[in-house]
Amino acid sequence: MKSRTKVVVVGGGIAGCSTLYHLTREGWTDVVLLERNELTSGTTWHSAAQVTNFGVNQTMVGLKSHSIKLYKELAEDPDYPINYHYGDGGIRLANAEEQMKGYRHFTSMARGVDVHFEVIDAEECARRHPLISTDNLIGGLWDPLDGDIDPAQLCQALARRARKAGAVIYRNTPVIGLKQHEDGTWTVETDHGDIDCDIIVNAGGYRVNEIGAMMGVHHPVASMEHQYFLTEEIPLIREADHRMPLIRCPISDYYCRQEKNGLLVGFYEQECKLWGMDGISPHFVNALCPDDLDRVTDVLEGAFARMPSLMEVGIHSIVNGPITYTIDGAPLVGPIPGKRNAFCIIGLRAGLGEGGGLGWLLAQQIVHGESCYDTWCIDPRRFTGHANAELTSLKAIEDYQNEFRFHFPHEHRPAGRPAKTTPLTAALAAEGAEFTVVNGWERADYFKPSVDFKPSLTFDFDEAFEVIAAEVRNVQDNVGLCEVNGFNRLEITGADRLTFLDRLVCGNVTRRTGRVGLAYLLNHQGMIKSEATLAHLPATDRGPERIWYGSAAVSEFHDMDWLQQHLRPGEDVHIRSLTNDQTILVLAGPRARDVLGACARGNWSPEVFPWLSVRETFIGFAPATVMSVSYCGELAYEIHVPNASLYAAYLTLREAGKAHDLSMFGARAVESMRMEKGFLHWKADLITEFDPYETSLARFVKLDKGEFVGKAALLKRKENGARRKLVTLHVASSKTPAHKGSSLMDGEQVVGTVTSGDWGHRVEKNLAYAFVDPAFAENGTLLQLDLCGYSTSTKVIPFSPYDPTFMRVRG
Ligand SMILES: Cc1cc2nc3c(=O)[nH]c(=O)nc-3n(C[C@H](O)[C@H](O)[C@H](O)COP(=O)(O)OP(=O)(O)OC[C@H]3O[C@@H](n4cnc5c(N)ncnc54)[C@H](O)[C@@H]3O)c2cc1C
Repeated sequence: MKSRTKVVVVGGGIAGCSTLYHLTREGWTDVVLLERNELTSGTTWHSAAQVTNFGVNQTMVGLKSHSIKLYKELAEDPDYPINYHYGDGGIRLANAEEQMKGYRHFTSMARGVDVHFEVIDAEECARRHPLISTDNLIGGLWDPLDGDIDPAQLCQALARRARKAGAVIYRNTPVIGLKQHEDGTWTVETDHGDIDCDIIVNAGGYRVNEIGAMMGVHHPVASMEHQYFLTEEIPLIREADHRMPLIRCPISDYYCRQEKNGLLVGFYEQECKLWGMDGISPHFVNALCPDDLDRVTDVLEGAFARMPSLMEVGIHSIVNGPITYTIDGAPLVGPIPGKRNAFCIIGLRAGLGEGGGLGWLLAQQIVHGESCYDTWCIDPRRFTGHANAELTSLKAIEDYQNEFRFHFPHEHRPAGRPAKTTPLTAALAAEGAEFTVVNGWERADYFKPSVDFKPSLTFDFDEAFEVIAAEVRNVQDNVGLCEVNGFNRLEITGADRLTFLDRLVCGNVTRRTGRVGLAYLLNHQGMIKSEATLAHLPATDRGPERIWYGSAAVSEFHDMDWLQQHLRPGEDVHIRSLTNDQTILVLAGPRARDVLGACARGNWSPEVFPWLSVRETFIGFAPATVMSVSYCGELAYEIHVPNASLYAAYLTLREAGKAHDLSMFGARAVESMRMEKGFLHWKADLITEFDPYETSLARFVKLDKGEFVGKAALLKRKENGARRKLVTLHVASSKTPAHKGSSLMDGEQVVGTVTSGDWGHRVEKNLAYAFVDPAFAENGTLLQLDLCGYSTSTKVIPFSPYDPTFMRVRG
């Protein structure tokens, strides 16, 4: 066995084989895969192996397109052809109009990555799939490239190509230990000796946490038992002149595809079962769980009703095997949080369809540091400290039970809640808060007008529209109070803190204490990596001179890793997370200064404490750090309070606010207001696919300031010119918001993609942000938006339509 290599991939299922192959394709050929048994002997061998192009965002659709192209190429390789039923087509069924609307939105979104779904009615569904009944059916989404593949052949084909390029695979070689050295390299211990390597990849399938434990991490992945059966031959299929399309049914929670001249039918039953929670026998290899058809009787009936011919055939065999899930159903592919030189490709619940694309994106990240798509939706750092085995299990069960039911806008399912709360959560609930979930945090979305107020799940503006309008109105006219919990807060101290940050951000770092600045971090490709508010605090009895680095609530692990990775040996910089210790209360509106002045001593006038200032103070007797920054476009103060004093600060502000008509507002009002101001949202509008010029952030780039991460690449990009430009749009619909991913059309040509959309209650316009072809970025340009299937007139308007000169913010 080799004693040294560049990368060791642990696990030879589809995840490991695809990663290995793609590493060689990206140019790294000194790579090794270690498999404890034979290739595919985990879950992969018994997969139903359907390969769909469907996904709920462009990254997922794009990576699946890569799988499909790659699998087709492998199937057509004359030296090693494999069985792939390419393009049988597939239908996702619907029995409700709102589902159909969702399908129309996903069709609009997929157009932007050149994937063409079709929304068809019930009769057309039955015409394309002659075995289904149209009872209680409205229609469905047609995916023309749906199909299925032989999973073992697929892995062997990938392994064969990887080997040809120089990769080495050792079978029957269990990894039994992982040791990381001071310089970040690893020693991988196996039964057959050790291998040293630079980078380790966990592709261990349901044994993910056995490998995680070897490196001291726990991955939020749980396994469920999942079952399908194969029928005897069905005469109608034998006699048909085409293969049957695949069916996925959110009405009765089953899927179905043709297998020989019969059907393979798989189930997502409500009485589902976790698997392997208390450890997995080392002898569970090429193995299945015991058949358990009793468990699926609830969904079996629905499948029989939809496909009556199932009742007339016998069951040929049953397959019940473990399948992995994460907290949100999407896999974990990318850097392992808190670890250097360690990656994972785990939690794959649709690994055959996605595996080709996931391995591709992971290999790009390993070799180049970033991939062609923004991969936040699969990034392992999107869950933070709360993501343990118990929470993952609860969410896994919920996700399994809803396998084909996509999330509607503003839908937050109940399992595993509340995971993270603040001392204010109960008080806000008593005020009528309806909560949304942000990285596990329960955050007030809006305040309900009555206890039983429950808006419908819809792609249109919902019944909360007027409630949010009223919250915005009071912020605009008087003053509002809003809790922003979970906001990422890192405290950076040490003599080198400013030079360190200067190296990481593309603009200026505020040198004066008492001041706040907005800064952008780029990756080595010159694209947007992160956004941070940097507040420079003076030395006080609360600490030495320091920078408070604030960024999006979900970015806690992501930003910490990025900062830590860029520390130089010997640099005097210390980074400490305050994320779970401090919560922000935002006081916003023209009377915000009056309320603040009534509960905090000192002079808060704009002359003494202007926009972008920071000061330590007390709200009543609660210690607080106040920043005059605004995300909503009104005079506003972010009041950062240690959680122990949060309730006290809230009571004081609430009391002082009585004289000024203070009322509470929530995250949806904030979302509406930031859309009117040209303020951007990390991982919606700020993504690694675009640079700061394309993102309309040129004013935050200071090319004359010296070196910073991404500068060289950014200079080149600037020379080449923007490929897309972020613009604000006025959408001519008062019924439906523009949803992320919707396509902007010039005739039949897609010329842009929406990143965010919401109603601007102060400007009384339906607004959206979108990246568009620069030829269509001028103010006044008219475009057609494919809005849930309806072509809707849309106009490019100035970037910040509300108070463009920022007079209100300055107060
Ligand atoms: C019944 C069923 C039907 C399914 N149908 C579909 C479908 O239609 N479409 C679809 O896309 N997906 C489907 N899936 C899911 C899909 O099969 C999985 O997502 C995929 O196979 C997971 O691949 P993997 O490589 O992550 O894991 P695995 O295939 O389990 O591979 C992990 C490998 O790691 C090895 N390993 C573990 N520990 C070590 C160690 N310490 N040292 C060395 N090697 C180690 C294991 O031996 C194993 O070979 C289905 C799953 C089930 C159970």
